[in-house]
Amino acid sequence: MATVDIKGVRKSYSGREVLSAIDLAMGDGELICLLGPSGCGKTTLLRIVAGFIQPDAGQVLVAGDDVTKLPTARRRMGMVFQSYSLFPNMTALDNVCFGPRVAGQKRDVQLARARQLLDMVGLSSHEAKFPHQLSGGQQQRVALARALAVQPQVLLLDEPLSALDAKVRVQLREEIRRIQRETGVTTMLVTHDQEEALSISDRVAVMNGGRLLQVATPAAIYREPADGFVARFIGSGAVFAGQAQGDHVRVADFTLPAHAAAAHPRGEPVEMFIRPEKVQLTPRNGHIPTGALAGEVRETIFLGSLTRVRIAVHGATDLHLWADLASEHAEDFKPGAPVVAQWDASAPRVMKA
Ligand code: ADP
Ligand code: MG
Repeated sequence: MATVDIKGVRKSYSGREVLSAIDLAMGDGELICLLGPSGCGKTTLLRIVAGFIQPDAGQVLVAGDDVTKLPTARRRMGMVFQSYSLFPNMTALDNVCFGPRVAGQKRDVQLARARQLLDMVGLSSHEAKFPHQLSGGQQQRVALARALAVQPQVLLLDEPLSALDAKVRVQLREEIRRIQRETGVTTMLVTHDQEEALSISDRVAVMNGGRLLQVATPAAIYREPADGFVARFIGSGAVFAGQAQGDHVRVADFTLPAHAAAAHPRGEPVEMFIRPEKVQLTPRNGHIPTGALAGEVRETIFLGSLTRVRIAVHGATDLHLWADLASEHAEDFKPGAPVVAQWDASAPRVMKA
């Protein structure tokens, strides 16, 4: 097992910078998800760690050793990709044995290890099947077992669940997490799916446009997004552009309570961000308390136990707010209903714009 240190890694293609000075330190046994929209550079970074791509600058260290110039085969890394990359003409068992065989291990050692791994991924009874006889989820389990068979120092997974349907995706991500914990292998998993990243990571590394915007625990990413991009990309909520004004934020004609604004100089352009679970809605009947916003329900989205309500703020056509209600209380908040939205002044996060 090993730490991974990515230091000042840069990569350009035809003069266009795809990764700009990435620094990321992974702890021994840690699972980090690289999360970001398509094209932000996740795969490029993962492939630099794997050794498939040479960075233009910077280093990759594994367990303190500089591996930047080492070929992939000498980096002791296990890899799983989005598309099933099993050898089609080999059984599940032979696929898992492949790495140990190439490494020159004895056949009985290979088999014992491969069977143990197939058992770990729940496929013992499928060892004699060929890839085309397995479902997508089963193929990815074999791919995971195969990646672990070489006893890698680092496990690299590039969108391993993206091609699977929703239910299998959730099952398999929990299984990946369990196996990762059991083996203690330092793991980097690339995904564009925020729910996936939040649910299985020790820390999430949010990327956009070739930069790392924030590296933090799922809870910290959710509660304290570093900037407006992270706030918009993770979870849901409203982001308002305005100016700090004491412990309020001035947004259009409104002065909205936000204690966090006090940390910013008066008049500084800021973004105020509030999660839907922090917004309280009440039916509007006349009086509007100070610091509250009057509006109208525009849309409701049923999410099972919760119903998410979008509110258009009165007097500001482009100001929208989201609020989560227990579904049993959502009856009073049909589209068109006049409402008052409020929040505790400690709830909003205020970020420099
Ligand atoms: P992600 O995995 O986050 O979707 P990638 O790392 O695959 O993003 O790609 C990042 C950017 O680099 C994209 O704009 C992509 O088009 C570009 N890119 C990736 N590989 C190459 C390449 N071999 N040649 C030129 N451009 C590339
Ligand atoms: Mg990719």
